[in-house]
Amino acid sequence: MANDCLFCKIIAGEIPSNKVYEDEYVLAFRDIAPQAPVHILVVPKEHICCANAVDESNSACVAKCFEAIAKIAKAEGLDNGYRVINNCGADGGQTVMHLHFHIIGGMKLSEKVV
Ligand code: 5GP
Ligand code: ZN
Repeated sequence: MANDCLFCKIIAGEIPSNKVYEDEYVLAFRDIAPQAPVHILVVPKEHICCANAVDESNSACVAKCFEAIAKIAKAEGLDNGYRVINNCGADGGQTVMHLHFHIIGGMKLSEKVV
């Protein structure tokens, strides 16, 4: 756990969250400011600051995140598709420096940006 990391505190249960999925490696909870009918954050329990800090020592938890994403999407009924977003660093718009993936869905998404 990293000091002063918001998502580490959520993982530790020190800050409440609306949890949708949890296993040994991953926690997923609803975004506090949803930008779509379904907006879920999928977070590795290991503190990794951002995509740039993923390497061969910790990349297994990224695979675990994507295994969780597939389960969550099915559970949320996102049968028609969804988007997975990772913001990295200042130019990417990352505001919480603990690696996370946004699941955005429940509506037809814009085709702009990606
Ligand atoms: P980023 O901008 O780093 O890619 O995404 C951070 C996300 O965390 C934002 O979508 C923001 O709404 C969400 N967020 C920030 N603080 C909290 C919180 O305390 N609880 C939850 N559930 N989401 C949060
Ligand atoms: Zn953290």
